[in-house]
Amino acid sequence: MYYWTNELWRLAYLIIGMGGLGWLIGLPGWGLAAGLALFIAIHIRHLRQLYAWLYQNPHQEPPAGTGVWGDLFDRLYRYQKAQHKAQSRLRDVIRRVQESAEAMRDSVVMLDRRGNLDWWNSAAEYMLGLKSSQDRGQHVTNLLRDPQFIAYFEARDYREPLILASPVRGDLVLQFQLTLFGDDERLILVRDITRLQRLEQMRQDFVANVSHELKTPLTVLVGYLETYSEHAEQLPPRWQRGLQQMQEQTLRMQNLVTDLLLLSRLETDHRTQQTTKIALPGLLESIRRDAETLSDNSHTLRLEIEEPRAIVGAEQEIRSAISNLVFNAVRYTTPGSTVTLRWHPWRTGSAALEVIDDGEGIDPVHIPRLTERFYRVDKGRSTATGGTGLGLAIVKHVLLRHDAHLEIESRLGQGALFRCVFPAARLTQAAGDISQESTPIPDSLRRR
Ligand code: ADP
Repeated sequence: MYYWTNELWRLAYLIIGMGGLGWLIGLPGWGLAAGLALFIAIHIRHLRQLYAWLYQNPHQEPPAGTGVWGDLFDRLYRYQKAQHKAQSRLRDVIRRVQESAEAMRDSVVMLDRRGNLDWWNSAAEYMLGLKSSQDRGQHVTNLLRDPQFIAYFEARDYREPLILASPVRGDLVLQFQLTLFGDDERLILVRDITRLQRLEQMRQDFVANVSHELKTPLTVLVGYLETYSEHAEQLPPRWQRGLQQMQEQTLRMQNLVTDLLLLSRLETDHRTQQTTKIALPGLLESIRRDAETLSDNSHTLRLEIEEPRAIVGAEQEIRSAISNLVFNAVRYTTPGSTVTLRWHPWRTGSAALEVIDDGEGIDPVHIPRLTERFYRVDKGRSTATGGTGLGLAIVKHVLLRHDAHLEIESRLGQGALFRCVFPAARLTQAAGDISQESTPIPDSLRRR
């Protein structure tokens, strides 16, 4: 402001001075014009200096200027210096980030808002086969062409990672995790999980092999025990009790082995390839009958069907998942309770199968862990009711293989609700054969 007022004073002095001079020699108009011309000439000279400085030597000191121009030059120079400092600080930060990303063993790939490759580290060159010379600016799906990756990339739902084999090294198993940042840009983090996968595979194989190996000796034991129990009356009463307990325990072991084998079969393939149309009314009716047999008609079992669509998938697996939920509802509630099976439309075009009971319910602290293998709220009670501790783990895996998921809602004293949510893509209008087949109820469950 100070320099600006000075500039106005300078104009006033020039006009008064030159006008006065003109007036003295009898040409006041010319004097005035000369004053204005001088004023303009001074400004044009400064403007030229500014132009030359900015376009020819912007990094050198500014030219010396007078009045408002001197102030303007100084301010521009200071602003420019501050900008330079900020820029070099940012360059330093970027260099450090790139250096640390470069040193990472995981791949880091940055994409611009159109999905074109912008920057990546050398681990990405090794794992994904990116070549710095020719791939910059290419769309990521031109280089990572696996249909699963393309679907994952385009879905823009990156909450869960994607596991795929490396496109250039078939022996590597990679975990892709995408993140959106900035102006719709994307960051791809890729981890090599080959070793973890191998360990997991070993664990699964081990459980499957042990369970398989146990099957034959158990069948032999069960066979002999059955034969002995047919002649139990010839044995002393003390032995009879022992025999009965041995039978119970071997049956439990058989159920455990069957469930373990089923689980390891479900785990080996993440998505079912079967596309049977499963009509729910028939399936639920037959499960209801089985549950009535299990409960000796001591429970009320209600069926509510409000959804006409059928599920596309593996019928045996769906039957086993729903049976597990319904048998649980019968086993963990007292006689006289009501169990409702409800198949109805759910959010965003999906459909839900709910198994609702009005029993004791489950304390919410246990709910997040219920689908873990062998997790029981009350171990004694679960064993007494013949549970293997694997029922809900089986349900979870079956649903995963059908792109569905399990939701559990319960409170102590307020019953429990188990909801299986099937996405619209897994449902079809035309209902197939109505299934009347029945699920064999494990013997250990029959003896309640
Ligand atoms: P289990 O073979 O022990 O029944 P599950 O995996 O089927 O194993 O169930 C895990 C635990 O969840 C059970 O031990 C039981 O405590 C609890 N649970 C399952 N369903 C119900 C239910 N409807 N009401 C109350 N508790 C339940």
